[in-house]
Parts: sequence; C-alpha cells; structure tokens
Amino acid sequence: MQVPFVDLSWQYNQIRDELLKRVDAIGRSGIFILGPNVEEFEAKMANFLGVRRVVGVGNGSDALWLPLKALGIGPGDEVITAGNSFIASAWAIAAAGATPVLADVGCDMNISADSVRDLITTNTRAVVPVHLTGNPAAMDELISLADEHELLVVEDAAQAIGARYKGRMVGSLGVAASFSMHPLKNLGVLGDGGFLATDSDLLADDVRLLRNHGLSDRDTAMIWGYNSRLDEIQAAVALEKLSYLDEWNGMVREIAERYTEALSHLVQVPVVANSNESVFHNYIVRTDDRDALRSHLTACGVDTRIHYPVPITDQPCYLKDTRTVKNVLPNVLHDNERILSLPIYPGLPESSLSYVISAVYSFFEAKSTSSF
Ligand SMILES: *Cc1c(COP(=O)(O)O)cnc(C)c1O
Repeated sequence: MQVPFVDLSWQYNQIRDELLKRVDAIGRSGIFILGPNVEEFEAKMANFLGVRRVVGVGNGSDALWLPLKALGIGPGDEVITAGNSFIASAWAIAAAGATPVLADVGCDMNISADSVRDLITTNTRAVVPVHLTGNPAAMDELISLADEHELLVVEDAAQAIGARYKGRMVGSLGVAASFSMHPLKNLGVLGDGGFLATDSDLLADDVRLLRNHGLSDRDTAMIWGYNSRLDEIQAAVALEKLSYLDEWNGMVREIAERYTEALSHLVQVPVVANSNESVFHNYIVRTDDRDALRSHLTACGVDTRIHYPVPITDQPCYLKDTRTVKNVLPNVLHDNERILSLPIYPGLPESSLSYVISAVYSFFEAKSTSSF
C-alpha cells in the first residue's frame, strides 16, 4: 500500500461543482483581483474568527510582515519569534527591517513566556508566537509578559485556522494575526493567498493601503505601498472551503486522536494542553529513532516529512545577518533530530490510517526483537 503525505484532490472534489460556478461568474465579470469574492471572503472570515476586520493579501508571509510594518516596526527594533518555525516567521520580521530574535520552545514545541523573557532588551518591540502545527501557544502567559514590557503581540496563525485557545479562536488573541492559504494549509487555495485578522480598524485600513501600492482610490497613492493583492479565484476557493472548514478540521482531529491513542507508548506524541483545540496542520511525533523509523515507513510506502529539517538558526540567511544574536536553542535543536510528521489530512482513508499505525508498530516490534 502507498500512503501519500497529503492528498489535496480530495478537498477539491468536495468543492468542485460550487467552485466552478463561481469561477465561471468571475470569468464573465472581468473582475479578477480585489473584487466581490474578496470582500465576501473578508466579511465571512472576520465573522468566523470573531474579529472586526480581515484583510486579504497575496500570501501568509505578507500577512505577517505588512502588519509589522504598519505597526511601525522597523530598523533597530527586535521582534521575538519561535526558533522552530517555518522560515517565513523570521523573514517577515526581517522584511519589515527589524531584527528577528529566535526563542526556544517548550515541550509543546511552541514558544513559551519563559523562553521569551530572557531575550527581551530595550529594543524589543513585539513577540510573534507561532501556533505550530495548529496547536495554540500559551497565549495568556505570553500576553501578560508582553503587557509587562509594552510589547505588541502578533500571532503567526498560518498553520492554525480554526484552532481554539481556552475556548477563544486563535487569530483574535493579539493585536493582529496572520494566516496563510498556501495549498498545504488547513484552508488552502489553488495557489497563494493569505490574510490578516485584527480588531483594529486603523491597522486594517493601513494594511489595505500597503497591499495595493498605497492607493486610497484608483489614482491617489497615500504612501509607498506594495503589491500583495488577493485574487478573486483564490477568494472563491477560500469561500467554498470555509463552509467545510469545521468539518474538515474535525476529521483531522479524529485522525490525530487515533494516532495518539495507538502510538503514545512508542513515540512522543504531540503535547496539546487540555484547554487547547489543535487543528493538527501537522501531526509530529518525536523519537530518538527518527531516521530509522522514517526509512522503515518509506520502505512500507508511507510518505513522511520533517517540519523543518533545518532550524532557522542554521539557515545561511540567518547566519549571514550580522544583526542577529547567535543564541543556542537547546530544545529546538534536540527536537530537530527527533521530529517526524505523519500523513494527516481530511480524506485520509481509514485503511491508510490503520496501515500507517501498523507500519509504525512493525518498526518498533522489529527493533525490540533485534535488541535481545
Ligand atoms: C506557511 C507559513 C507561513 C507563510 O505562509 P505563505 O502563505 O507560504 O507565505 C508563515 N508562517 C508559518 C508558520 C507557516 O507555516
């Protein structure tokens, strides 16, 4: 049996009929960028997240750096984020002109207030917690630390759409939050897309200017802006998928529960606080036998990934940046050798799920017999 790491066609097939009607209407309308689908999406997503404003942009990376920029963060400022995140979290800080400062993570693989506290200097302006794998970071502790030091909190919620922290929707917890609609994310479109969520009208209006060359109307550029617009077709895909999101996140959560039940005596399963509702963008197990387990799974036809094989602190761009403090992150480095992402997605057939579990079993069975 072959189990792919992800199967995006399953989702497409669910929305296909309704989507094609929308795409046809878009083609006929001649409005392809920042039109009625984008507006409808922004309104519906704001409602879904329980925030005042959503602003659609070109991708999740822009959804993070544009608000940092709009908040006045720039050269000389330091912004703290998680050392085990995708490169885009640190890039967004650098793109705003500020210095990325990387913090260590706790056993939940998320940035913790303790790891942030030691890194705060007089130049620190903001903290960007990443809800890695869709599991919310410990926001109460982070927000009270940030309040104490007058820091802004901007959530990198790229992987966490629909996740809840103590009953509250992720993306509504800081001054702003960024989301990605990259095809692999839990609400993925047929290309690039992203959006910002915020309760601040001022911030939302500033990002609206920044995303479209600073234009307040067709002919008036109020500020130097950028081109980071969301197009109508991607907004239409997002709208169609939004109606399935809770259902799909529920399916993914059930798969995660199955893995956790079956595997917790063999590997370190994801650490999710009781008060968290994770959306399991990834299901990451940790084991000292990572490389051997991965080879075994590959031989069994089970496709796995490593999120992420090279920590940000080891990336050439980070090492070359003379401003960055080259601090050592013991937990990030320790996890880095041990993490393995198993297949998880809506539409993963029951037979494939049991097969993955049995393939993990057969690895540890063979290992226990061979060691005697
Ligand atoms: C995917 C991702 C981003 C960037 O989103 P893009 O849409 O690819 O630009 C940022 N942060 C995290 C944690 C991500 O996983």
